[in-house]
Amino acid sequence: MTTMPGPVLGDLDARVAQRLATGGVRYTKGRRLVVRALGRAGGPRSAAELHGRLRPGIPLSSLYRTLTVLADAGVLARSHDGHGVALFELAEWLRGHHHHLVCVECGRVEDVDVGDEHERTLTGVVLAVGAAGDLEVTGHRIDIEGVCGACRA
Ligand SMILES: [Zn+2]
Ligand SMILES: [Zn+2]
Repeated sequence: MTTMPGPVLGDLDARVAQRLATGGVRYTKGRRLVVRALGRAGGPRSAAELHGRLRPGIPLSSLYRTLTVLADAGVLARSHDGHGVALFELAEWLRGHHHHLVCVECGRVEDVDVGDEHERTLTGVVLAVGAAGDLEVTGHRIDIEGVCGACRA
């Protein structure tokens, strides 16, 4: 198991710009800042966390708008932390397939790449369970819950 390397940022910008252009959405400086920050992050992040990290800073209200625009355009995926706080990350077509380690104590969520062998095993289980429920499986999202090292210390 390894943490994910982030996407190459220059390439990331080009792919996001292209996606936004097809929807007639401009890739503004603020949107670029948010996309790059999430490209460097090791997991999904809340608006409050991003707000504390963005340099130059942008007002929280426009950060919320930016996150909504990018999510609606399919650039970001929305999820929740262990406490129900909304989180944002790069969509899977940008970030690559991965899973999440969720700390039920502090709510922290980190990306994890389970590796090819475990991924094949998971996919087999998912296909079998989906077929048993008459579902034509198109993908899966699996979060692993537990207590992180910092919270156990
Ligand atoms: Zn924790
Ligand atoms: Zn998987």
